[in-house]
Amino acid sequence: MQPNFDQELEDRLVRYAAIDSQSDETSSSTPSTGIQFDMLNLLVAELQEIGAENVTLTDYGVVLATIPATAPGPAIGLLAHVDTAPQFNATGVKPRVIKNYDGGDITYPDNPDLVLSPQKSPYLASKQGDDLITASGLTLLGADDKAGVAIVMTLARHLLANPDIKHPKIRLAFTPDEEIGRGVGERLPKDLDVDFAYTLDGGDAGEIVYESFSADRAVVTVKGVSIHPGWAKEKMVNAAHLAAKIVQTLPQATMTPETTDGREGFIHITDMNGGSSEMEIKLILRDFELDGLATKGDLLRSVCDAVQASEPRAEITCEIFPQYRNMRYWLENDMTPVELALAACRAHGIEPISAPIRGGTDGSRLTEFGVPTPNIFTGMQNVHGPLEWISVQDMAKATEVCLTLVQKAVAHESR
Ligand SMILES: [Zn+2]
Repeated sequence: MQPNFDQELEDRLVRYAAIDSQSDETSSSTPSTGIQFDMLNLLVAELQEIGAENVTLTDYGVVLATIPATAPGPAIGLLAHVDTAPQFNATGVKPRVIKNYDGGDITYPDNPDLVLSPQKSPYLASKQGDDLITASGLTLLGADDKAGVAIVMTLARHLLANPDIKHPKIRLAFTPDEEIGRGVGERLPKDLDVDFAYTLDGGDAGEIVYESFSADRAVVTVKGVSIHPGWAKEKMVNAAHLAAKIVQTLPQATMTPETTDGREGFIHITDMNGGSSEMEIKLILRDFELDGLATKGDLLRSVCDAVQASEPRAEITCEIFPQYRNMRYWLENDMTPVELALAACRAHGIEPISAPIRGGTDGSRLTEFGVPTPNIFTGMQNVHGPLEWISVQDMAKATEVCLTLVQKAVAHESR
C-alpha cells in the first residue's frame, strides 16, 4: 500500500515556515545570519530523534546525516536549503492551511488588499480539492525551500522506520545561504561523499531540471581626472559622464533580463556607484552556452574600450569573474541521475518537465565540483513574495518520486 505523507508534510512545513531563517547578502559571516541556526539546530534534533546516523552540523553551517544502505548501489545525496529569500519580509510568518481548496479567490487575513486568483494562475486553478499552504499576507511563506526540507525529512523518517525498503546509502544535507549564492562551499562535496545528488528546490509537479545558466559577473571601474570645478576648463574628466556613456552604449532593447526569456542570455547592470572622480558599474552576464557567455563578455569589453578611446585621460578597467556553470556540461557525460529522476516521475504517472532554469541552484555549484546534482520539484509557487503558496499533495508527489527514485537506484552500478 502506498503510504500517505500529506499530514506529516503539512505539519513539517507549518512548523518550519514559522521559523525566521532569512539570509542576508550584505553580511560576510557564515552562515550570513545567526537565525539560520534555529533551523539547523532543530533539524539536528529531529534527525537524531528519527534515528539518522552521523548527524553533524559542520563549522560552515551545513547539517549532514546518513540513512544507511539496505542494498548496494550508488550513494545518493538529498539537499534542501534552510534559508529564505532576502527580497521580502520573512519575520513573523504565519502559515495557513486551506483544506480542500474550493477553486476560488484566496484572500489574506493580515492584508485585505491582497488576492491570489486562479484566473491569473492556471496552475492554482488545477489544484482544486488540494490542501494549500499560504502565508497570512504580510510575509513570504518560505516554502522555498522549507518545502524541500519537509520532503527530505519526511522521506528520511519513512526510510528509517521501514528498513525493509531496499535503497543504497543516502546522505542528507541542509544548507544555509542558497538565496544569496553561498550555499555550497568547497568542503561540502567531500563531506557529502556521494556519487550524485538532488536538490529539492523546484516548482511545478514534474519539474526535473538539469540545465542552469552559466554565469559571470563583471566590475567596470572608470577613473576620471578630478580638479576644482572652478579651474577645471580643459582639465577635468568627469567619470560619471563616461560611466553613463558605457551604460548608454550597452544593448537595451535586447540582451537584458527584461527583454529575454527561454534560452536567451543577457547582460544586466545590477549596481552603479560613485561620483565625478570615480565610478563603479557592477554587472552580471548570463547564457546557457559558454560561447554565448564569452560573446557577452567581449561585447562589454569592447564598449569599455570604445569609451576609453574617446577619452584617453580617463582610466577604464573591466574585470570579469566566473560565478557558476550550466550543470548540463557535466550531466550530459552521464545522464544516470537525470534518467533515474525522470523514470521515478513517470512511475507515478507524472510527465516530467525539464525546462532550463534561468538562474543557478546549489546543484550548479555541486555539479561543477564533481557531484552531479539535478533539481527536483517541490510544488512551490510565487516564491519570494506574499503570494507564495504550495499544495500539500504536490509535496507528497515529490516525496513519493524520491522514494521510488532511491529504490530504482539499487539496480544501478556505483561508478
Ligand atoms: Zn530555493
